[in-house]
Amino acid sequence: MEKLETFLESLSDHELAKFAGYRYDDFLGNSREKIIRETQKRNFDKAQLVELFNTPFDKQSEKETCPQCGSDKLFIETDYDVRAKRYYRTVEVAIDTKRCQICNYNPLKRKPKNLIDRIRITFKKKGNERIKRITKWNFWN
Ligand SMILES: [Zn+2]
Repeated sequence: MEKLETFLESLSDHELAKFAGYRYDDFLGNSREKIIRETQKRNFDKAQLVELFNTPFDKQSEKETCPQCGSDKLFIETDYDVRAKRYYRTVEVAIDTKRCQICNYNPLKRKPKNLIDRIRITFKKKGNERIKRITKWNFWN
């Protein structure tokens, strides 16, 4: 897990506060300690962290930013999907989406919030949902 430490060190104070706020619950014991240790290294107390977390990022450039936290640290996530074609042939389609490195948000892969949404997505998956993902992904670019 050296990677997490290196990543944490590379963040600005502001990014670290956002990262900790959004992601802390995603991590387990040892990794959580690393996040805490990094904030201690920078002499943050809890109040400062909360204040930074609640402060929006300055938009410095025309770079695309995350709709959830405002960071411009986005990376491309590629999924491969096999689609059926005629005559029993299949094609593999690469689907690129963008995920935020700070808060882990990917608008096209949101976790369903409640049971009803989850059921709806399960039922949709076969047809609509996938096609929607392909056509919708353009709005990120
Ligand atoms: Zn984000």
